[in-house]
Amino acid sequence: MVFCQGPGDRRWVLKTTRPQLANVGMVSLSQTEPKTITVLMFSEQVRMEDIKTWLQQRSTVIHGYEMRDEDGIRTGGRRFFVQLKRDLRTGEIQHLPPVIQLGAIRGHVFYPGQPKICHRCGSQQHLLAECHNIHCRNCDSKEHLTKNCPDPVKCNLCGESGHTFKTCPSSYANRVKKTPNFMKAKRQMKKVFPIF
Ligand SMILES: [Zn+2]
Ligand SMILES: [Zn+2]
Ligand SMILES: [Zn+2]
Repeated sequence: MVFCQGPGDRRWVLKTTRPQLANVGMVSLSQTEPKTITVLMFSEQVRMEDIKTWLQQRSTVIHGYEMRDEDGIRTGGRRFFVQLKRDLRTGEIQHLPPVIQLGAIRGHVFYPGQPKICHRCGSQQHLLAECHNIHCRNCDSKEHLTKNCPDPVKCNLCGESGHTFKTCPSSYANRVKKTPNFMKAKRQMKKVFPIF
């Protein structure tokens, strides 16, 4: 059941004009209609699982797949079905950033209804080509560039500082490494090919 769909919805009007009903359906405000998201990252190294982890921190991922052309060749595009979140207090949809970066690899995120925002500073007033703002991608500061950030580098997969994407415990590569089967396979490889 979904309450308070948006400003055009009658129940929304009810909520805003009758404050005593403000808390009605607040829990269901946390989800929206599912959206089809396209993520373009032209690198074979980027795993679906890592893009999913990135999306999952900002939305609810239902499922996803890699896009292929008619010959079955991967195009670099990945498609996900997600539910965007809403801010529980303001009711505003929490849109996804238009740029995804995992390690040194950057990609783009597209979906219908996505607000047009500057890919550098996030402003809705201009696009990247007209942007004169300074913005740090590490700490979100408007005072310095990313390369001059005084803060420790934050992981661009999980957002925590103290490690990078490469060493992130949430990355697919590092999660797989921890599983017993991987360790067993690695030991066996060592026996057969001591060079590894
Ligand atoms: Zn800008
Ligand atoms: Zn900074
Ligand atoms: Zn991390």
